[in-house]
Amino acid sequence: YGDPNQKIDYIFKVVLIGDSAVGKSQILARFARNEFSLDSKATIGVEFQTRTLVIEHKSVKAQIWDTAGQERYRAVTSAYYRGAVGAMLVYDITKRQTFDHIPRWLEELRGHADKNIVIILIGNKNDLENQRAVPMEDAKEFAQKEGLFFLETSALEATNVETAFLTVLTEIYNVLN
Ligand code: GDP
Ligand code: MG
Repeated sequence: YGDPNQKIDYIFKVVLIGDSAVGKSQILARFARNEFSLDSKATIGVEFQTRTLVIEHKSVKAQIWDTAGQERYRAVTSAYYRGAVGAMLVYDITKRQTFDHIPRWLEELRGHADKNIVIILIGNKNDLENQRAVPMEDAKEFAQKEGLFFLETSALEATNVETAFLTVLTEIYNVLN
């Protein structure tokens, strides 16, 4: 997971948003440290984690911000969004309400962030297929309508987590170049 002496060509700030308990912190733990915890405490303190990876032959430091328990409506401050070039909008495929709140999060994001921000919609916990409450088609349709990337992930099984970050980071790189 990266040589500390590596030269950095770009630093991209990406923010995680979405309702509480959808798996934002575990998605980040999986991406930044390849870890997962089933009884994760509400995130306190840590603002962001980084991982350096190679995108189109350039070394990119991804600085991923986690909401640290500010998931109540409008509690996320504008400082959180400042400078963000990417966003991951996360819901839980087993909790319909977390998907129904996505338009609200999107509105918040669009109100605070740069207009060129790259956004991916993420349906997490897709290892829990037998508890699915959000059809993949509904999310796909919404993402298409709003011009968002879309993937279902499992932080538990490490499904598509890497792909989700690579999708966002590569698109950010392409928008810049
Ligand atoms: P956050 O509040 O959005 O940061 O959510 P957390 O990352 O703290 O996760 C909330 C709960 O969901 C924890 O018990 C996690 O272990 C669990 N969780 C997170 N991701 C997954 C996943 O992909 N699959 C399953 N089955 N559980 C998950
Ligand atoms: Mg959290």
